[in-house]
Amino acid sequence: MARYTDAVCRLCRREKIKLYLKGPKCDTQKCPVERRPYPPGEHGRDRIRQGSEYLGQLREKQKARRIYGVLEKQFANTYEEANRAQGITGENLLRMLELRLDNIVYRAGWGSSRNQSRQMVRHGHVLVNGKRVDIPSYRVRKGDVVSLHQKARQMIVVRHNLDTLDRQVPPWLDGDPTSHEITVRDLPMREHIDLPVREQLIVELYSK
Ligand code: SF4
Repeated sequence: MARYTDAVCRLCRREKIKLYLKGPKCDTQKCPVERRPYPPGEHGRDRIRQGSEYLGQLREKQKARRIYGVLEKQFANTYEEANRAQGITGENLLRMLELRLDNIVYRAGWGSSRNQSRQMVRHGHVLVNGKRVDIPSYRVRKGDVVSLHQKARQMIVVRHNLDTLDRQVPPWLDGDPTSHEITVRDLPMREHIDLPVREQLIVELYSK
């Protein structure tokens, strides 16, 4: 599965906000968004753009895509699916992204970033309803139980994350992350998805 492998901090600088792609570093003074709050590149500091309607829509789409670490094609496919589903398309889209297995691992605080969580899934450390699932984009359903494999529970990185991150589990997930088991109690509502994304602009972009 293809994935973005270049420097991730430049993605935050491009969006001019913290996307929290690096784990613990994001909350420190070393965060490049704090030190260089302008777009990357030789002329990033000089770049003053007129904010067109299209640019605003494009940036919202890129922001959402980068937060969840989804490539262009997969994001467009997810949008198509969200558009076909019942309900508000923008909310459907965020809900589908939020239900990705790598995101659940991140929300549980087992992974410090979605990238690290994705790697844990790829390496077979995560179980859904007791069965190993190594597909980061796997979409969990209401009632699914997501847990860590016995070996993964002893991993230093998992123990360190649980000790230091202190991440609050969103209300649509049930369980204590330190027990290494989380249940998807409900589907997430928009108000439970704490992302600085205006999903309506993404819908407008794809509706052109
Ligand atoms: Fe983004 Fe984190 Fe890098 Fe800061 S440290 S620019 S929040 S990925």
